This record gives sequence, C-alpha cells and structure tokens, in this order.
Amino acid sequence: MRPFQYVRASDADAAARAVAANPQARFLAGGTNILDLMKEDVERPNELVDLTRLELTEIKAAGGGVSIGALATNTDTANHPLIRHNYPLLTQAIVAGASAQLRNMATNGGNLLQRTRCQYFYDTAMPCNKRDPGTGCGALEGLNRMHAILGWSAQCVATYPGDMANALYALDAVVRVRGAGGRERTIPIGEFHRLPGDTPEQDTNLQHGELIVAIELPQSTFAKHSYYLKVRDRASYAFALVAVAAALELDRGTIRQARVVLGGVAHKPWRSPEAEAALSGRPPSEASFRQAAEAALKDAKPLAHNAYKIELGKRAIVRTLMRASRVA
Ligand SMILES: Cc1cc2nc3c(=O)[nH]c(=O)nc-3n(C[C@H](O)[C@H](O)[C@H](O)COP(=O)(O)OP(=O)(O)OC[C@H]3O[C@@H](n4cnc5c(N)ncnc54)[C@H](O)[C@@H]3O)c2cc1C
Ligand code: SF4
Repeated sequence: MRPFQYVRASDADAAARAVAANPQARFLAGGTNILDLMKEDVERPNELVDLTRLELTEIKAAGGGVSIGALATNTDTANHPLIRHNYPLLTQAIVAGASAQLRNMATNGGNLLQRTRCQYFYDTAMPCNKRDPGTGCGALEGLNRMHAILGWSAQCVATYPGDMANALYALDAVVRVRGAGGRERTIPIGEFHRLPGDTPEQDTNLQHGELIVAIELPQSTFAKHSYYLKVRDRASYAFALVAVAAALELDRGTIRQARVVLGGVAHKPWRSPEAEAALSGRPPSEASFRQAAEAALKDAKPLAHNAYKIELGKRAIVRTLMRASRVA
C-alpha cells in the first residue's frame, strides 16, 4: 500500500474543504471499498479525510418523507423503524448486499460510491479505461459474463454493483451534497450515477470535494407493494447478475403507478420507463408483467458471454412484480 496522509475531519465543511483543496485526496467512511482499492493499487490517494466523527448518522422524518444521514451504517438504515415500515423495499435491498459484518461498517454515502467489481478494473496488469483512461477495455472482448447489457459504450462495459441505489431510484430519492464553500445541492438519484460514454473514469456526477450529507426520500405510496429480487451466483455475499427493484401503487385492481429499476445490467441503476408505461392502468397480472419485462429489455445488447442476462432479466422482472403485487 502506498503511503498517505490521514486527516480526521471535525465537521462537514472542513471535510469538503480538505478534499477540494487536494485533487489526490479522498473521503474515508467505513473504508470497506476504498481501502481494498488502495491495497490493490487501483486507487492511489495521497490523503484520506476521515468522516467517521461527523454527525451525519441521523435517520429522521422530514417533510412527509425521511432524511437518512450519509454516515448512517447500512445496518442501522435497514433496521430503522421508519425505513422498515415505510420503505421496506430499501430494507430488502440493503440486506441483499454484502454480509452482516460489512453492513455494520458500510455507510450509505460510501455505498452509493462503491466502484465496479469488473475484474479487469481490479487487475492492474490488465487494460482498463476506468482505472487508467486510454489503456482500453479488457472486458469488451474478454471475460464479460458479469457485465452490462444496457447503456454500455466501447470504452467501458462495467456494471454498477450496488443494491441500495436500485431501491432508492424506485423510491424517487435525492442525494443531498455539500461543496467546499458550504453550498448544498440535491441530485436526483437517477442523475447521480453516469453511463460510461467516453469518460468511464467518472462513475457519478459528483464534483471532487463534494460531500454526500444525506439521502432524502419523499413520502411513499409504495410501502404495501414493493419487492427487491437479487439473482446471483450464490445465495449470499455475491454481487447481482441481475437485480430488480419493483414498486406498485394499486387502486381497485389496477396499477396506478409503477417503478421498475434493474441492477447488474448497466453502469448505473437502470430504470425502465417503458416497463412502467406498460404497467400503468393495467391489472396486476402475469400477462401485464410479461409485457413490462419485454419492454424493459427490448433494447438490450449483450456481449459475447452475457446474453443469458436478457432472459434472466425478463424472468426476474415478472417474478419481482408477482411478489410486489401480493398484499403485504
Ligand atoms: C466482499 C464484499 C461484498 C460486497 N457485496 C455487496 C453487495 O452485494 N451489494 C452492495 O450494494 N454492496 C456490496 N459491497 C459493497 C459495500 O456495501 C461497500 O463497500 C460499502 O457500502 C461502502 O461504504 P463505506 O462506508 O465502507 O465506503 P468507503 O469504502 O469508506 O468509501 C467508498 C467511496 O465513497 C467515498 N465516500 C464515502 N463517504 C462519502 C461521503 N459521505 N461523501 C462523498 N464521498 C464519500 C469515498 O471517498 C470512497 O471513494 C460489498 C463489499 C465487499 C467488500
Ligand atoms: S468494463 Fe470498464 S472497468 Fe471493466 S475493463 Fe472495461 S473499462 Fe475497465
């Protein structure tokens, strides 16, 4: 591991200022991703600004919805009564991720910013445009069984590996961030992560030095009818091949509104307006769900080793919607 400076931030502004002042500095939260990346020599910060003493751990009711501190752990978030009762989809997505030990350390801000699990990204002997821009994409013609089928570019075919963000997208979350000057802004979760395009080294639309302070959820009408399904190579401690976050609002036997977000298929959580339109105004039946699944995957473009994800994705959508439509 390369040497680095360790700085403990006393408040949010000091943390944002310290990172903004040094292009090689990074925030440190639970450390479950960034420290691994540093040990593998994939990330090479010369300074870590420790956030763990900041008072950003609160989860509280706010404006009819809930505000979740960026430094709250995944465990505390998943178990909080406000989340369990009003946003069970988020609880399900969080506990589908990692392991209990990791979730005890992992924070919500860090979870949103975890980096891809593409094996070429982690292997510094291989080309990777995300790790070292301009070197090429090892996965494009290589082992790409885990990679994207939607929204990829010739520069990068990686997927975003997180679970929590898929549920947050279905629940219309916004991410509150604070810059070095103390200025705050909110980013809708759907605009937080990026597609790779020609700049796959940028995972998100966050500026360097901007600190995530909270994730805000509006009041939800989906609590009764939502479900998170994660399909993976083994039952736990594995990243999604395909994940589906689905939420329905039902009104007298008709779907009033729907959310369908896929994980494990693109460089960002992939919401499907086509699937949602196919569901709107229809009865919650297997036939409607199949139409939605076809609509969601109609533009999928598989790589050499991941065409299976198209059929898997369709079946996962149908199964998730079937579960979501049952009375809770
Ligand atoms: C073996 C293993 C399996 C896993 N499986 C899953 C899984 O199945 N599903 C899943 O979703 N996740 C999984 N994870 C990922 C895990 O959930 C993340 O590593 C964790 O959520 C990151 O949070 P952290 O607080 O440890 O972040 P850190 O490692 O401390 O930071 C990660 C990144 O976020 C930045 N950062 C942290 N906090 C902030 C903030 N407030 N503002 C701005 N930037 C910030 C850091 O600078 C760094 O770049 C797994 C991890 C491991 C090691
Ligand atoms: S898919 Fe992206 S992360 Fe993986 S090797 Fe290609 S450029 Fe790197």
